[in-house]
Amino acid sequence: MEKESAKVAKNTMLAVRLHGPRDLRVEQISRPASPGPGMALLRVTAVGVCGSDIHTYQDARIGDTVVETPMILGHEFAAVVEAVGPESYDGNFARLQVGARVAVDPAQPCGRCEMCEQGHPNLCHRLHFCGAYPDDGSLSEYMLMPAHTCFPIPDSMNDAAAALLEPLGIAIHAVDLAKLHVADSVVILGAGPIGLYILQMARLSGADPIYVVDQFPWRLNLAARYGGIPINFKDSDPLVAIKQATRARGVDVAIEAAWADHSIQWAAEMARLGGRLVLVGIPSADRLEMKHSTARRKGLTIRMSRRMKHVYPRAIKLASSGAVDMLGIVSHRFPLEQTPDAYALNEQYADNVVKIVIDVSQT
Ligand SMILES: [Zn+2]
Ligand SMILES: [Zn+2]
Repeated sequence: MEKESAKVAKNTMLAVRLHGPRDLRVEQISRPASPGPGMALLRVTAVGVCGSDIHTYQDARIGDTVVETPMILGHEFAAVVEAVGPESYDGNFARLQVGARVAVDPAQPCGRCEMCEQGHPNLCHRLHFCGAYPDDGSLSEYMLMPAHTCFPIPDSMNDAAAALLEPLGIAIHAVDLAKLHVADSVVILGAGPIGLYILQMARLSGADPIYVVDQFPWRLNLAARYGGIPINFKDSDPLVAIKQATRARGVDVAIEAAWADHSIQWAAEMARLGGRLVLVGIPSADRLEMKHSTARRKGLTIRMSRRMKHVYPRAIKLASSGAVDMLGIVSHRFPLEQTPDAYALNEQYADNVVKIVIDVSQT
């Protein structure tokens, strides 16, 4: 009992903050206050490390957004509800219950601007996104979030899988944009976590065949396990490989999920006449490099993917039915205290890394 009261009295918590490029520090900071109306106090259980987190870690910026003061990264996460304020409704508009295990949508669109009203909350210009400066993310023991960002998960789903519903949501949105038809041929550039979830979504949509281009053999092995046809661009010219495989026709849809500079041009060259490109990756140089004539002569349709819409309910359904293998991409797990090591490893692509999950606390 004594131990319990000491725990309650504790008003600090462990958090990992980014102070500058590659400067992550594990610190004791003050715990969030009690939740106000419509808010929930969450105890974070698991956090996924995302490619965009690595960008921010390397440069202390992403695109035009510069990290000016120490901030907490992390936007793929699961949590347990510790306390709720009055009028707290979850993402399904049901009362959010204390003790509920939830997956959390990091995006908080305003709900009232033109884009929100028109059903594009991912394009809301007043959007808050946890883990994008200046909004703190989830690499901490506790955090406050609007209740409506919380989606209760079934008991059968573990915390790491729940955290990864966010990247799965990104994949669902990308495949929505691709408007895949049964038996469409697809190439996915990049067999990272997003590419591998896109592959699973494309398979479920009936696309066939699906080629997957990457340079890391262990990632391509996973792609093959999920029914993709692996192409290692270190071993052979991927443009020639697609040309031969499609008898020079090209694929119906090319999805770029690699954030590499050359891969957008490759995607354009691999697509058929009148084909579709969906661009999901974020290039580090913040430039989209594509030969104009390649895209123009083919009359390509190019769609830029921006985060996701209200896809958590679909993601939860797919993950709980077993239609998606959520955890096959998880290569490493670290406790919160070792987050700096996790980021360093991820950045180096060391030790056959695919996806890292940070275990913050037990359910
Ligand atoms: Zn992410
Ligand atoms: Zn809005």
